[in-house]
Amino acid sequence: MKNTGGRMTVKLLDLAAQYATIRGEIRGAIDEVLESQQFILGPRVEELERAIASYCGAAHAVGVASGSDAILLALMALGVGAGDEVVTTPYTFFSTASSITRLGAKPVFADIDPRTCNIDPARAAALIGPRTKAVLVVHLFGQTADMDPIMETAFARGVPVIEDACQSIGARYKGRPAGSIGVAGCLSFFPSKNLGGLGDGGMVVTSDAALADIARTLRVHGGRERYYHDVVGINSRLDALQAAALLVKMRHLEDWHEGRRRNAAWYDERLAGVPGLETPRVEAHNRSVYNQYVIRSRDRDALMAFLRESGVGCEVYYPVPLHLQRCFAYLGGREGDCPEAERAARESLALPVYPELPPAEREYVAARIREFAERRRAQGGER
Ligand SMILES: *Cc1c(COP(=O)(O)O)cnc(C)c1O
Repeated sequence: MKNTGGRMTVKLLDLAAQYATIRGEIRGAIDEVLESQQFILGPRVEELERAIASYCGAAHAVGVASGSDAILLALMALGVGAGDEVVTTPYTFFSTASSITRLGAKPVFADIDPRTCNIDPARAAALIGPRTKAVLVVHLFGQTADMDPIMETAFARGVPVIEDACQSIGARYKGRPAGSIGVAGCLSFFPSKNLGGLGDGGMVVTSDAALADIARTLRVHGGRERYYHDVVGINSRLDALQAAALLVKMRHLEDWHEGRRRNAAWYDERLAGVPGLETPRVEAHNRSVYNQYVIRSRDRDALMAFLRESGVGCEVYYPVPLHLQRCFAYLGGREGDCPEAERAARESLALPVYPELPPAEREYVAARIREFAERRRAQGGER
């Protein structure tokens, strides 16, 4: 924190602050891997797979190279390919949809529920058709999608559900862990996620033994035995160094979730009633792990400019819904197809919520937001 005449610099995320609390543990774990000189898969990765499977309430876990690959491999394991459709949300990180198109399949975008920014179960149900091979839900910002109605419809239609839980490890839906509800859950260990590694990493969790077996084979070029290939897989494995660091971080994960939840609850209270601003809504049956704390403002761009000017790190997740991305123009998506996702893209703003965020900085962020709202009102600009 820098405090120069009342102005502060507040980071959106400060990974150095986290590292400072676990430096010794991490270095010890890394040293062990260096001494072993076993870098690809191996005992540390297996230990992490067991720990994550248990944490996520799944029977199996398969460590892979990234969250994007976890999604790709889950889709591959289900046999998604050319001509298939996958129903998903347009309001998410890019790779949710690119994993589908990389397999020659077509993402079919169902608009979001504006209250949670997660896929709207009724809209998703309406888009399931004869070509639908899977439903890929995303648990955005740390909160699970409304899984019961989605599972019910998908089951009735014989379509498997995959959970993109890249932002939501440890989140719960009616007590059930994110990733344990559909046929498979996909996790990311990208450094900015709640459980972040020292680089890229990811995992597929599932209680379906056959699916786990296929994913395990696909991550090593599709061979069960080296140099004998039953199917064409990819090279997507988790490193022992990542696993060692992630095992250390898992010991702290619940505390970090709680830190985020505490900061979120504080903002909820402090920002309540600010004109033109909505704090994030978490359904009563959900436990959010707040990978992001995302407010909505009709004056989002001006608010973001003001906050950045004031030294507050903030970010838009996501400025362009996926049905409007240029690379997906061939799918024929148009403005107006998913109005709620489009509105969310115009109004959303993520604030600093990381567990180590100093209370004085949190206070500063809230004070600047209130100041912005005051100025707007004074200018008669409040709509
Ligand atoms: C981070 C993220 C991914 C991709 O994970 P990587 O590990 O960066 O490949 C996919 N989906 C969502 C929703 C994410 O937040």
